[in-house]
Amino acid sequence: MEAPDAGLMGQSSRQLPSSPRTQSGKRPTAASLQRQREYAVWLQAQPQAGDASWATFMAERRVQKERVRLQQIGVKQRRERFRRRHGASPPPEAEQRQALELEFQAYRDARLKAAEAQGRRWLAHEPSLRMLFEAERRKQKERARLRKISDKRRVARHAAKLEQREAIDRQRLEKTAAEAASRQQARDAAAARRAERRAASRAARQWSTEGQCEGMTRASGGLVRCRVHRSSPYAVAAPLRRGERFCGHHHPDKYTGVRCAGIRKGGKGQCRVWSGCCYADAAPLRRGSPYCQHHRVRCVGLTRSGARCTVTSSSEHEHAQPLREGATHCAHHQPVQPPAPPAASAQEASPPPAAAAPTTPITQILPSAARLKLKQARCRHPSSLPPSRLSWRTTLVAYRHGFLSSNTQL
Ligand SMILES: [Zn+2]
Ligand SMILES: [Zn+2]
Ligand SMILES: [Zn+2]
Repeated sequence: MEAPDAGLMGQSSRQLPSSPRTQSGKRPTAASLQRQREYAVWLQAQPQAGDASWATFMAERRVQKERVRLQQIGVKQRRERFRRRHGASPPPEAEQRQALELEFQAYRDARLKAAEAQGRRWLAHEPSLRMLFEAERRKQKERARLRKISDKRRVARHAAKLEQREAIDRQRLEKTAAEAASRQQARDAAAARRAERRAASRAARQWSTEGQCEGMTRASGGLVRCRVHRSSPYAVAAPLRRGERFCGHHHPDKYTGVRCAGIRKGGKGQCRVWSGCCYADAAPLRRGSPYCQHHRVRCVGLTRSGARCTVTSSSEHEHAQPLREGATHCAHHQPVQPPAPPAASAQEASPPPAAAAPTTPITQILPSAARLKLKQARCRHPSSLPPSRLSWRTTLVAYRHGFLSSNTQL
């Protein structure tokens, strides 16, 4: 059968007098004729044992047509994507194919050259080269695709990390701000409390001159009244608390009773501490000592270990009594008195240290500093030392304690 002309097929085949008819005598449509022709071609291609029914042909045809339709849609979508991405239509397919061919030729030439250089001529098989080229191209495309994905993931990771860091920073800022706010709040509250307390105490402390000392301060030249009040917790306010008119500083009894027998340094005369004053320095005077706490006399005796005795005229023990009575030793360290002249010692009671001098070896009564000096002078037994070997300081100490008179030959 002659294949009808494509232009004639749509319209004129019906009018042709020799056109085929259906079994009922109707003229078939152009599409129906086309199907018939395709069926004939398909039948020839079918193997002998295969299913050659019309239904099978139609099913296969439908599948084929659907595949073509989907392919066309795919092409359309690809072009659309390209246009979206690059802002222009893709080059025509022929051009693409040509570019690909050029690429393959370049690839082939490079491979051939390399093979020639290595002397491996069997690699010049063209179909194999094409396959290799295509495989390589596929691989490259896949690699690019994967790289794109991993890039996208990396960017996402980076963004997430940034966001996380920002969130942490924000949290930290918020925390510090909250802490600062709470600190400020605490400070404000403390300041308010302080102000309140101050106001309360100002209201409570209504100063009254009743119970205030009537004395005048010396620093003001007798112009300003002493501010000691009976509400004061200090010992100096004790007379005011008893109902007297003056504090301990300004009490009229301050310079009454027994005066300390000590002499102040720098030629300032006798000590001005009296037993009548309220200070703790005067306590020894009140106990019967002739000296105040500053001018107390220390026993010049040495303990058995060689240290200086610590008993003073201010000590409250009974054995300090000799010191209070003008002696140089406490009761423990009283030198053994020579029994010979009882009458003479009674007469010369005023300088008792001079009398004690000859009986005690000088090194026993020396303070430890002086004994050290003797030691440094490499004296085997201090008592054996001739007086001329003693240093001026040792001599001075001995003299001060009354164990050398000014007549003693050194
Ligand atoms: Zn006063
Ligand atoms: Zn004194
Ligand atoms: Zn003593």
